[in-house]
Amino acid sequence: MLTSTSREVQNRLNLSTPVQYLKGVGPARAECFARLGVHTVGDLLEYYPRDWVFAPEVTKIGQMLPDESVTITGLVESTDYQSYRRQPIFEVTVSDETGVCRIVWFHGGYLCGRLRPGQVITASGKVSVYKHQLQLTNPKFLVIDEEHGKGPEHFSGGVYAATSGLSSRQIKRIVRPLLKELSEFEPELYGEAFLKEAGLVGRKNAFEWIHSPPDNEKLTKAKRRLKYDELFLMQLGLAIRRYRNQHFSVVSQCVHNNQIDGRIRKRFPFLLTQDQDDSVAEIVADMTKSRPMNRLLQGDVGSGKTVVALYAALLAVANGMQVAIMAPTEILAAQHSLSIERYLKDSKVSRVLVTGGLTGKKRAELLAQIGNGTISIVVGTVALLQKDIEFHNLGLVIIDEQHKFGVDQRAKLRKDGTPHCLVMTATPIPRTLAMTAFGDLDVSVIRHSPPGRGSVITRWVDRNDRLKAYEFIRERLKAKKQAYFVYPRIGTLEEDGADVKAATEEWRELSMRVFPEFTVGLLHGQMPSVEKHQIMTEFRKGKIDALVSTVVIEVGVDVPNATIMVIEGADRFGLAQLHQLRGRIGRGEAKSYCLLFAETDSEIAESRLEIMTRSNDGFEIAEHDLRLRGPGELFSTRQHGLPDLKIANIVDDFELLVMARKNAFELVSHDPMLTETEHRNIRRSLLAKFGDSLDLADVA
Ligand code: ADP
Ligand code: MG
Repeated sequence: MLTSTSREVQNRLNLSTPVQYLKGVGPARAECFARLGVHTVGDLLEYYPRDWVFAPEVTKIGQMLPDESVTITGLVESTDYQSYRRQPIFEVTVSDETGVCRIVWFHGGYLCGRLRPGQVITASGKVSVYKHQLQLTNPKFLVIDEEHGKGPEHFSGGVYAATSGLSSRQIKRIVRPLLKELSEFEPELYGEAFLKEAGLVGRKNAFEWIHSPPDNEKLTKAKRRLKYDELFLMQLGLAIRRYRNQHFSVVSQCVHNNQIDGRIRKRFPFLLTQDQDDSVAEIVADMTKSRPMNRLLQGDVGSGKTVVALYAALLAVANGMQVAIMAPTEILAAQHSLSIERYLKDSKVSRVLVTGGLTGKKRAELLAQIGNGTISIVVGTVALLQKDIEFHNLGLVIIDEQHKFGVDQRAKLRKDGTPHCLVMTATPIPRTLAMTAFGDLDVSVIRHSPPGRGSVITRWVDRNDRLKAYEFIRERLKAKKQAYFVYPRIGTLEEDGADVKAATEEWRELSMRVFPEFTVGLLHGQMPSVEKHQIMTEFRKGKIDALVSTVVIEVGVDVPNATIMVIEGADRFGLAQLHQLRGRIGRGEAKSYCLLFAETDSEIAESRLEIMTRSNDGFEIAEHDLRLRGPGELFSTRQHGLPDLKIANIVDDFELLVMARKNAFELVSHDPMLTETEHRNIRRSLLAKFGDSLDLADVA
């Protein structure tokens, strides 16, 4: 009775069946599996071994040569235990179709009863000659038990990351039977012709061989196929998201002509650079379509993104739309507001900065004006603008510095009214990341900064030269230049207090002892925003000579007269962050200096600091960082709202990534909702990976 029930369950296994219902797994083991992140049959099949061992090649007995290390497989003809000897030996004669061989184990009494005539055994050891006969002495061996499915291959195959209560071998025993039914779970995704052309093995073979590879070559093929599928499905998800954004929502088309263009450009006291012009052209092309723009604008700090973004904003305003400019922090929002003011002086375009400090009647009035469309450009933090502001006719959302945002969150930001969306990031994104974390966006790049920038010289200062460095800084401060002193975030968020303390203590030291003749200000994230604001204003006006701060100044702050930056504990920052920080200086024409203080013995840290002193190119630094740290640390797919990558690696498997991306986007352009019969299996796998987040289900 019970058997037939479990057989029925067995028959209805599919990828989403909980592992608990598998043979050999009960509630207790299911819990162990859960610890490994394995909940369903699908998870289990994708719980790839972390290593593989192969059954050694078997030598025919007739081919054995003295002194060779061999593995033989043969039938046990006879056994003999000679306990009477001074060194008791257990002796076995085995044969295969090519010959007979003697095997002895000294002190082999424990083998009595374990090895019997009629068994087939495999033995590995070194060949010696005894009394003119070849023999193996004390070899490793195992009894091959065909009835229970223990062939030599049973002892080879995948080695799984185990957990207490669940060994690698047990996992193997649970996975193996599934491999026989693979065609039911893992139907082929692509046609024969494609597989051949792309040099990919079948999906069923791939799963079989990854868990139980017959040889190394097949294992390599299996990996390649599974990596491809993983990357392909990820890219397909991105392609579909992008398609949906573009095709399922209609926005009012912007009009763009020479008159509008001229009016906007008049706002800028300089000519746009070639890169800025190119980006503007791409944005204009997007916004004059009836589909929402979904574009990433990336460029190094100070490369002139704000100008491009403002162009987009003014184009929207010229078309009667409202624009929301979102920054991650209030300081940055204020900064944006300021630069916008600079360009829009005496302009009729109504704009406002929404801050958290704004309350009561004033706030209500403002919200009303935004609600009835009187105000055209609204600047604020993401939190503020998302929360409770109703727009009259929001046509463009500009999100600054949202590289920490995922694909998912971005999708949420645009959900009401799905206006045009422009994401700006000053963290140069390596190509690999541009194809994944930002893979649903079109990309514009500003590579070259506007002319007239002083160079930034970066030095890693030896600890013995600290005082010299201070004197160097003193000279610049005397010449009315300004300086930043940046302290790392120490510890985790909960220990935020530690940051404040470090910066605060340092500030005391610097202001009272090192630079008593100058005004040294302090800025950290836990200050009330009014106070932060005030400090920044004074620094901008030159009333503060040196600013001690935590990383709150990381992004967007623009004080061209600040030409010195000291970064303490520089080894604690990521490269991208260091580069970002450094971007705060070198904004004017004067030469700037970035001094890195770090005491580290770590080779990676040293190599990172070294590249900082060598390169000013954010893209080069980002690629370098990715290679040094690996994508794992820098880039977790889940954090970006994408499915986890279990076998592929976006850096090492870059070529596959490119191929997968091309094929996925091509597929979506032909069959955007994957409704064609031949794409049924792809669609099913995609749904299993992304769940409902793609809204694919509604067109099933
Ligand atoms: P980003 O936003 O990329 O950090 P910004 O747009 O803030 O860069 O520009 C940095 C500085 O360069 C600003 O002071 C801006 O006025 C100036 N700038 C921008 N574009 C140009 C240009 N085409 N020619 C000269 N200066 C420019
Ligand atoms: Mg900027």
